[in-house]
Amino acid sequence: MATIFSKIVAGEIPSYKVAENDAFYAFLDINPLAKGHTLVIPKREVDYFFDLTDEEIAAMQVFAKKVACAIKTAFPCIKVGQAVLGLEVPHAHIHLVPMQSERDMLFTNPKLKLTSEEFVEIAQKISSYLPTE
Ligand code: 5GP
Repeated sequence: MATIFSKIVAGEIPSYKVAENDAFYAFLDINPLAKGHTLVIPKREVDYFFDLTDEEIAAMQVFAKKVACAIKTAFPCIKVGQAVLGLEVPHAHIHLVPMQSERDMLFTNPKLKLTSEEFVEIAQKISSYLPTE
């Protein structure tokens, strides 16, 4: 059965898309720790991040780097933190979270409640800072 993230890639479930290429897809986390919290996923369905091939991990990290740079410009922060958890959704993903302090990376923190207008605005803002391929 397809994961919820594969359904997002297929457009069967809506998402606030930030970036996409042939192999990877970036979209806003629906329960963000901070404005700009983005998930980067491979289109190929693999549960555990470290089961991706070396080549996939390398390419995914380069893709995530571009997204992280755009997040930092769109939402000025000290650094964009990166985390791999995957305990909830069995489809490998990287979390990118703008950090003002180490505490912003605590996944037990209360999540932001944003309106769909806010999500659209955030996704568009990050996208606008991505390099054109
Ligand atoms: P993890 O698997 O890394 O523990 O957490 C999965 C993350 O995916 C959570 O931060 C959660 O908010 C996010 N998430 C779960 N379902 C959806 C969804 O349908 N859409 C979006 N945009 N994010 C989701």
